[in-house]
Amino acid sequence: MMTQEHVPVLIVGAGAAGLTLSLLLRQQGISSVLVERRPDVSWYPRARNLNFRTLEVFRGLGLEAEVIAAGSPVSRVFRKDTLASPQREEFPAVEQALHIMDHPETLTPEPPIWYCPQSRLEPLLRASVKQRGGDVRYHTELVSFTQDSQGVTATIRDRTTGTSSVLHADYLAACDGAHSRIREALSVKAEGLGVLDEYYLFVYFRAEWRDLIRGYEADAILIDRPGIRGFFLITDADRGMFLIQYAPSQGESAWDYTAERCKELVEKGIGKPELAVEILGIEHWQPMQLVAEHFQQRRVVLVGDAAHTMPPKLGLGANTAIQSAQNLAWKLAAVIGGQAAQELLSTYQTERHPVGLLASQQSLVGPAAALLTRGSDDDLLPAEKQVPLFSLIAGYRYRSQAVLSEDAVPSSPEGIELLAQPEDLIGQPGTRVPHLWLERGGQRISTLDLLDGRFVLLTGTGGTAWRDAAAAVAEHLGIALAAYRIGAGADLLDLENGWQAKMGMSAEGAMLVRPDGFVAWRTDTSPPNPEPKLRQVMSSILCQRQQA
Ligand SMILES: Cc1cc2nc3c(=O)[nH]c(=O)nc-3n(C[C@H](O)[C@H](O)[C@H](O)COP(=O)(O)OP(=O)(O)OC[C@H]3O[C@@H](n4cnc5c(N)ncnc54)[C@H](O)[C@@H]3O)c2cc1C
Repeated sequence: MMTQEHVPVLIVGAGAAGLTLSLLLRQQGISSVLVERRPDVSWYPRARNLNFRTLEVFRGLGLEAEVIAAGSPVSRVFRKDTLASPQREEFPAVEQALHIMDHPETLTPEPPIWYCPQSRLEPLLRASVKQRGGDVRYHTELVSFTQDSQGVTATIRDRTTGTSSVLHADYLAACDGAHSRIREALSVKAEGLGVLDEYYLFVYFRAEWRDLIRGYEADAILIDRPGIRGFFLITDADRGMFLIQYAPSQGESAWDYTAERCKELVEKGIGKPELAVEILGIEHWQPMQLVAEHFQQRRVVLVGDAAHTMPPKLGLGANTAIQSAQNLAWKLAAVIGGQAAQELLSTYQTERHPVGLLASQQSLVGPAAALLTRGSDDDLLPAEKQVPLFSLIAGYRYRSQAVLSEDAVPSSPEGIELLAQPEDLIGQPGTRVPHLWLERGGQRISTLDLLDGRFVLLTGTGGTAWRDAAAAVAEHLGIALAAYRIGAGADLLDLENGWQAKMGMSAEGAMLVRPDGFVAWRTDTSPPNPEPKLRQVMSSILCQRQQA
């Protein structure tokens, strides 16, 4: 007889999205079971660079120092005749294209971009899930599932033993990647260009190449000379990937690239005949641009590539996946915990669909691709439609039931409200809370350091009544809500007068920040008894309209 168990959330897929979601749910006090078909973490050096918004997510999880230690500054791109040849040419254009602003320390406490490839990130996240008591099961796959109004019933199979078991979950999070079978089983349509007319081979190999890659560990190296063109991407001292593009339009086929030919190409690219090369695997790959029309169907939510798949031309895929997981986690937790109505979950679609769609469309062009394909891909997205990288990473504004704002929604050609530059982030409801340098107990911290999974109410020096109201509302609604006064002689010193100068807030004002770091609501005044107002605001954000 099959064993049966119950868990609040079943997460399928332990890529960037699934592992992060597991950690974020854990932070919210929600248990999950995470199943992953692969026997182990991925060592493939695919997703490479994390942007500051993703680093901020890890900062909130207390993992930022580990992620920084595991990586290094943003990777560079060089061209060489062979890996072994001393001559090299750098392509600063790629780095320049990823440049966000001259003084990023005014935008974020994190580096704007940090190289931490999937092959280092996944082991780190898995270790953290385990260390925090999370349940993650590798070599275990979702076989099938059904859902009703109460939850999901899933059959999972342990691939080592072949044993199947039934698992009941309140919600199923489909983090099962670009070719999501769960999305397919739900018949959720996806929009976009689909599979692009670009053809690549990932050739994974083993070679004792540590002497050749010293100093280039974070970089991509383009080998380009007659008869050979491809990128070396490094995993570690003896493993890597050679990325080759081929052209069916010129009569080439993936099948032309046998293991022998790939070995030859890797050897030629390395340029050191005495070095033994072992081919570990060859994968055919075509980038996709596809966004699910619906990120939720009753008890099933799509996260990461399963919801929004994009070409890696701007390095946004894993980043957007992690940021979507953050948007979802607190909402799922509040619904499961009974503090929010189920409608709150629909704001995951309202908020993240436009962001995922824009990121995937903008990823049709990018500096790395121009290098790889030797040409311009501007016909896929004309220059006048391209938006600044900052806008894609943190310069967007959510409008949904989980945000209370009084100003009108301007019409936008992108279908999403964008901020053009970092200076435009001034604490508008629906935007990522501005980063201010503050001081607590003699220590310099960022506003983002106040985000530990709870709601946060920030007030000025005259905000004692707001702070007292926050304690009362937290108890009444059973939510985790921290409150801090900012300013001279208050809980947090405002080192650069940002509360007033950057955010335009008054001493009596209050700003409510959601657990994902987005401003939910703000006011400039303090009524004599602010508790009913704060309760009404919180109930509204949690979609408890009957209590408002
Ligand atoms: C060459 C390349 C370079 C890239 N560079 C970047 C970059 O620099 N920056 C960036 O942000 N992104 C980059 N990306 C994109 C990035 O890799 C993806 O967007 C990201 O991995 C998506 O994460 P995910 O967790 O949604 O899905 P995935 O990482 O694909 O994880 C899905 C997981 O689900 C598992 N799974 C599927 N079905 C089942 C099942 N039935 N049961 C159990 N498990 C299942 C799979 O085994 C897989 O491990 C790059 C991609 C490529 C190919």
